[in-house]
Amino acid sequence: ANVNHMIGVDIGTTSTKAVLFAENGTIKAEHNVGYPLNTPVPAAAEQDPDEIFQAVLTTIREVMIKSGVPPQSVLFVSFSSAMHSVLAVDEDGVPLTACMTWADNRSAHWTEVLKKELNGHAIYLRTGTPVHPMSPLTKLMWITRDLPDIAAKAHKYISIKEYVFARLFQEYVVDHSIASATGMMNLEKLDWDEEALAVAGVTRKQLSTLVPTTHIMNGLNPVYAKETGLPESTPFVVGASDGVLSNLGVNAIKPGVVAVTIGTSGAIRTVVDKPVTDPKGRFFCYALTEDQWVIGGPVNNGGIIFRWIRDEFAASEVETAKRLGLDPYHVLTQIAEQVPPGSDGLLFHPYLSGERAPLWDPNARGSFFGLTLRHKKEHMIRSALEGVLFNLYTVMLAMEEVIARPSVIHATGGFARSELWRQLMADIFDQEVIIPESLESSCLGAVILGLYAQKRIDSLDAVGSMIGTTHRHVPEKKHVDVYRELLPIYIRISRKFEEEFKILADFQNKMLAE
Ligand code: ADP
Repeated sequence: ANVNHMIGVDIGTTSTKAVLFAENGTIKAEHNVGYPLNTPVPAAAEQDPDEIFQAVLTTIREVMIKSGVPPQSVLFVSFSSAMHSVLAVDEDGVPLTACMTWADNRSAHWTEVLKKELNGHAIYLRTGTPVHPMSPLTKLMWITRDLPDIAAKAHKYISIKEYVFARLFQEYVVDHSIASATGMMNLEKLDWDEEALAVAGVTRKQLSTLVPTTHIMNGLNPVYAKETGLPESTPFVVGASDGVLSNLGVNAIKPGVVAVTIGTSGAIRTVVDKPVTDPKGRFFCYALTEDQWVIGGPVNNGGIIFRWIRDEFAASEVETAKRLGLDPYHVLTQIAEQVPPGSDGLLFHPYLSGERAPLWDPNARGSFFGLTLRHKKEHMIRSALEGVLFNLYTVMLAMEEVIARPSVIHATGGFARSELWRQLMADIFDQEVIIPESLESSCLGAVILGLYAQKRIDSLDAVGSMIGTTHRHVPEKKHVDVYRELLPIYIRISRKFEEEFKILADFQNKMLAE
């Protein structure tokens, strides 16, 4: 039979991935191409835009080859991309800079200036991107003020996805989703924010044309059509950012459904029907479509905390696990299970890599609080797992000040391999937790958006029929009560130390520099 196919491409920070799906959502082939994150100076985190462009071509070509589907059966290619990237290009589209990623910290000084002197909070309230060095607005402030030679030659400032599309179609377009994560798009007006542009030191002409996430490009450059194995007539859907598409890909787009991811870092997000920002600046608001907006917060400290526990606290357990052929994380969760919920009153604040949401404080530092001689390693492991969730839960509490209390959590990421950690989420959030079988959620989200763009489905809700569920957890009342008692203490402690964090971080940075 004539089965249709579709390709979702996710341009990530560590790799680009393409997944070729049949129209019903089954995966036919996938391919991944990794690339380095370069740090020529310690604060930098940048990538070679051409390497990423090549990775996009390669992944598409490889899924075409691996799947062996007829090129004419590909309905479209649709794109997901990491947020917050920036590069400058000249008149001919040639990069003048590397691609600065979200993790690039060189605009830290200008972030402070924006916050304290240039109306940063008011700009956030209109644009939805927290004032942080990740934000392209602050990155442009840095380029236009500290790198005048580049600023003088810059024809356009674009994200990596815009670069890829400019190469493929000779046109500069940016979707509302990527634009909503630049700190420069007025969310209500779906247009660039004049004050933000003035602060950034750029003109409208230096930015791409704003288009909906369902915008379709036609007329693929014949050279690249040949290289990818696709017909020149293949439509390319501009798509959205990885964050909002992964909500779509885990079927968390209905009101009341919250998506929580705990991989190395973490994030919590939910969909609302119009843009909202936080008077206290704790969460972001990014576009999925004109009527679907994703609010939430990214946290630095997710699974990386458990990795740290494994690597720094548990050498002998890791040895044992290896000897028995077991996953060390599995062995460590079993150890954590030997002590009761709440770890006998030991609290762990997970800010080992500073923190974005909810504190937005790069100087925040981690701690065990409440140690006594009775506490053992078991307690420390368990409280670390609990602390990661307390932190994410406080982001959810911030969101609950503007939306109704959610009814279910769709959780994904490496943490979901642990039954204990999943149950802890249900108990600490006091919510039902469902683990969707999320195979490549950003690529799946991209193709669902593509189907919607091509009007092959009436609504994005169609995702519901494409993915199943692997686990379900309900809160256990007795445990919920314990966490309810500890939570206010956890929160008060997290707020008390802002000044001390700064003094200590300065000290640590000084020691590092010596
Ligand atoms: P990334 O976001 O880096 O791609 P993953 O989604 O694979 O990462 O998540 C990695 C994290 O998941 C690890 O740091 C660890 O904390 C957690 N993890 C992985 N396996 C397990 C397990 N069996 N039990 C508990 N946590 C796990």
